[in-house]
Amino acid sequence: MSESKNLPRRGFLRHSLGSAAGLSALGAHVVSAEEDQKAAPDQFQEPARSLPLADDADVIVCGAGPAGIAAALSAARAGAKTRLFEVHGCLGGVWTAGLLTYIFDFDKPGITREIIDILDSRGARRSENKSRFVYEPEEMKILLEELCAEAGVEVQLFTRVTAAFQEKGRLTTIVTESKAGRQAWRAPVFIDATGDGDLGALANCEWEIGQSIDCPCQPMTMNALAVVKDAKALGKYISFNGTDAFTGEGGHLTAVEAFKGELERAGIEASYGHPTIFHVRDDLVMLMLNHEYGIKPWDAAAITEATMRSRAEVFKIMRALRKLGGPWEGLQIAATAEQIGVRDGRRISGRYKVTREDLIEGARHEDAVTRATFGVDIHAPSKEANAKEPIGRAETKAKPYDIPLRALIAKDVDGLMMAGRCISGDFVAHASYRVTGNAVAMGEAAGAVAAIAAQSKRLPHEIDWSEGAALLEKTRRQG
Ligand SMILES: Cc1cc2nc3c(=O)[nH]c(=O)nc-3n(C[C@H](O)[C@H](O)[C@H](O)COP(=O)(O)OP(=O)(O)OC[C@H]3O[C@@H](n4cnc5c(N)ncnc54)[C@H](O)[C@@H]3O)c2cc1C
Repeated sequence: MSESKNLPRRGFLRHSLGSAAGLSALGAHVVSAEEDQKAAPDQFQEPARSLPLADDADVIVCGAGPAGIAAALSAARAGAKTRLFEVHGCLGGVWTAGLLTYIFDFDKPGITREIIDILDSRGARRSENKSRFVYEPEEMKILLEELCAEAGVEVQLFTRVTAAFQEKGRLTTIVTESKAGRQAWRAPVFIDATGDGDLGALANCEWEIGQSIDCPCQPMTMNALAVVKDAKALGKYISFNGTDAFTGEGGHLTAVEAFKGELERAGIEASYGHPTIFHVRDDLVMLMLNHEYGIKPWDAAAITEATMRSRAEVFKIMRALRKLGGPWEGLQIAATAEQIGVRDGRRISGRYKVTREDLIEGARHEDAVTRATFGVDIHAPSKEANAKEPIGRAETKAKPYDIPLRALIAKDVDGLMMAGRCISGDFVAHASYRVTGNAVAMGEAAGAVAAIAAQSKRLPHEIDWSEGAALLEKTRRQG
């Protein structure tokens, strides 16, 4: 999409000699605005300054959601010096900062198995099913920190990637912002796991979003944890109690309809047409109740409004239900998500684009990094659509299909890979592959290929997937 071309580009970066660890406060070596060129009246010409530069990583991963974590673990385990940047104060992305609590398409070899085993050993997973289950978000936070520490991943939280610089068509340097100020980082290979494709966009890659740039796109949702007096008393309103979520027989949709009846009794209509309660543990549940339409993930003002509106809606619903008494007596919000859940972000153009046709045909590829089995799941893009059909399938009956390594390699700039929901695909395919089991598998593959590329002084597109697969075979733990 051409809008990426309008992103501000800083034409230069002056490198200082300081090491990253030795950075001091913000804004060393600032040039005064008066010294710089005059900008247009509604623009501020940012003065040039030197930044401290760290040039010691083999692989830099941006974003620590399910995809970024897996990418960083797999690169570090392959012996690559790996840095991981995350803007929030915890690892896990939508799993933790987003309070998701539910996982799809997870029954795959590798890091997915490890996570299942650790959750099970801590009693933090519900369901016999290894593909879809409830997990506890705080347990997820701590286990991801432990895995990263053990693998030697250099993690920096509270750090946002804000600029990217190329040399001769190759991404060489990124800039981050944090309480440590602006810092520059070099590496031979970068992985964009920001979900929203921030790094790819900053590197001037072509990208798409939703059904078009004007964003008929999937809505955002603010998840919340709540405590109840007795979760068993709410049993018939709780989804995903062991039955299949999307067949519509019993299970999920029956629970949703029963819950909607209670909301009606309380005089409330949730903005999400399939309001859902998940049982996390004991008397802790997760509420997924709202939809925010047409919000672009890079529009900070719109996201702020959507976040506040969502939180207000969650509390309004909680208070109305509590007034009903009975099983709702004592219902309390325990936490609202740090980050409103973003379903649709940028999809960075790669050397292959996963499409709706791939799903219909059940595409097979020699460089398949994983096989996705989750169906198409399109939350209504508007209030009107939500009233008719809260979740659509775009008339697509998906067969299990392969995601090739090429969809994880940027086409417009060398040295950049993607993993998770920002890989190269179309709107309908994204509505299937974006779930977290696939994000982990893609991350794991990207991390391995990035490590091989960095260590052998090649570019990701010069690596044959058989090398990546062989490396994973060697470094994977048996689950
Ligand atoms: C409301 C909702 C419900 C969903 N339901 C399910 C479900 O039931 N099961 C399921 O498996 N999937 C579900 N999904 C889909 C799934 O959660 C996502 O597609 C998945 O999170 C993809 O993982 P990711 O790592 O690509 O992205 P994310 O989880 O979004 O992780 C991206 C990370 O990058 C960080 N980041 C972003 N920008 C920057 C930057 N510039 N600098 C540094 N860090 C940055 C973010 O803070 C975040 O931690 C749901 C999604 C939403 C929003």
